[in-house]
Amino acid sequence: MNQTDTPRRVAIVTGGIGGLGTEICRQLAAAGRQVIAVDLATRAERIEAFRRELADLDGAIAFEPADVSDFDSCQQLAARVEQQHGSIDILVNAAGITRDASLRKMTSQQWHELMHVNLDGVFNLCRNVVEGMTARGFGRIVNISSVNGQTGQFGQTNYSAAKAGVHGFSMALARETARKGITVNTVSPGYCDTPMVAAVSAEIRAQIVAGIPVGRLGSPADIARAVAFLAADDAGYITGANLPVNGGYFMSF
Ligand code: NAD
Repeated sequence: MNQTDTPRRVAIVTGGIGGLGTEICRQLAAAGRQVIAVDLATRAERIEAFRRELADLDGAIAFEPADVSDFDSCQQLAARVEQQHGSIDILVNAAGITRDASLRKMTSQQWHELMHVNLDGVFNLCRNVVEGMTARGFGRIVNISSVNGQTGQFGQTNYSAAKAGVHGFSMALARETARKGITVNTVSPGYCDTPMVAAVSAEIRAQIVAGIPVGRLGSPADIARAVAFLAADDAGYITGANLPVNGGYFMSF
């Protein structure tokens, strides 16, 4: 079925004003979806900039504040969006943080803060949208994992564990919802040209690029394209899969 023949799907993108989230919002809106970017209300300046950057898609993208690490905040968000827009058909979990330190130096706080956002956040959103998707017989859930969840990364026991966990979660939920018209997949970006990666030193960045067969960092558009593909109505036979988008940095079968 062609996307233009289908009802206007409503998409939530968490981390929606971030480096990857912004482009995911843009591509989903350009594909005809009503998009709700979800992020922390505390990022007032970035929310304003986001509104300006996506002004050309006026009306197709709204902003809703929520803290993905807080179950009640996610429950209220889902209720608000369903009331205002009628449904939540697509969920993209892109909110994420890093709290890097080698395990010998990692504090319990660094471990738990990361888990609350990167793993609990996925549960909190999925738990609050899956009933509606099941009742309507349609859903597309795309969780953003990471190549570092597949390979492990020095200084990232917390991040690698959470991102590998996101894929395990996705496979289990894919099985639970497969007969209900819902697909659940992960996209695992490699290193992308976003503030998260800009934060590492130029020397390390050069080393990273040297290890990428394609010879460059990924762009947010590279990732958003994969998300939009999995979120399409006619992607219904792909579920429980991980789609790596890493320029060949890590190849597996
Ligand atoms: P980013 O920091 O630009 O965006 C992350 C967004 O999440 C921010 O807007 C932030 O405000 C939001 N966020 C953080 N905590 C939140 C909370 N508690 N509730 C709601 N929103 C919250 O990072 P990004 O590069 O856009 O990364 C997006 C996703 O992609 C993350 O899950 C990240 O782990 C993953 N990823 C990124 C890369 C990369 O190279 N940038 C590579 C692999 C995976």
